Amino acid sequence: MALPRGVVIHPDELGDLWLSRLKHSDIRTVGLHPVGGKKADESLEALRLAVLRGDFDKKFATLRQMGIEVEYEMHAMSWLLPRSMFVEHPDWFRMNEAGERVADFNLCASCDESLRFVAARAAELVKILRPTTHRYHLWIDDVRDSFCHCSKCRKMSPSDQALLIYNALWKGIRTVDPAATQCYLAYQNTEPAPTNVKPEEGIFLEYAPFDRDFTKSLADEACDKNVHEVAPLPELLQCFGRREAKVLEYWLDNSLFSKWKKPPQFFHLEKEVMRADLNFYQQLGFEDVTVFACYLGEDYEALHGAPDIDAYLKQ
Ligand SMILES: [Zn+2]
Repeated sequence: MALPRGVVIHPDELGDLWLSRLKHSDIRTVGLHPVGGKKADESLEALRLAVLRGDFDKKFATLRQMGIEVEYEMHAMSWLLPRSMFVEHPDWFRMNEAGERVADFNLCASCDESLRFVAARAAELVKILRPTTHRYHLWIDDVRDSFCHCSKCRKMSPSDQALLIYNALWKGIRTVDPAATQCYLAYQNTEPAPTNVKPEEGIFLEYAPFDRDFTKSLADEACDKNVHEVAPLPELLQCFGRREAKVLEYWLDNSLFSKWKKPPQFFHLEKEVMRADLNFYQQLGFEDVTVFACYLGEDYEALHGAPDIDAYLKQ
């Protein structure tokens, strides 16, 4: 059986065009992804308020009628731990390589108070942003080399620090949703498997191969970049198991190919790469695959016509 497929789009892109595409597709899940970067906390808060107001009620009802699930995939750390907390609690924040506590990214993963605080905030957040699948995707900050260098954290890899945070978030979320699972996002610095921290039972693997070559299949052993990118997979799958193991891919990510800047560029889907990758992931035992599909909405069609993406949308 083919892997169930999903798409991840920006909240403002979920409109008539995408709903019509989804109606005639085999897509099983829509992930809403508030824009990341420096204002990730603001875009997340805007989405939270919009869902709270009921702005998405009709769209979600339409998706439900189609049998399509809704999830949220988002860089949540700056919302979970507002930088303004630094004044009162500098020790909750990370230490940079120069030995200074800084309120730029992430947190001190060895600070129990900080972890308890973000766990409680996660519980608050998911009272509103509640996926229909019980699968949660609250991610740490989207910045390389943004981990803690305090005397305790220094002994841990970025992956171990990230897993401590994800374990804490899961514990918070399950107080609201006892059936919750939370991802460990293997992405950039956190692609190597954690070694000294064990995942709690509700943690699943989400693998996002951002540093890959998008023009070659991951199974292409002549592509050094992709060989390097997939090297951590056996250990990741061993650490987290295959249950709920999920791929987050970029085959349809026209925001990436447009360098996250509008207007959207013309998009060409590398169908052979995508098919070979899907086969590769299936053989490894992944259970689920989703893909960023941002910058392919109404403004795209107005400029370039309908994108040729049925090879992904229809199985
Ligand atoms: Zn620390």
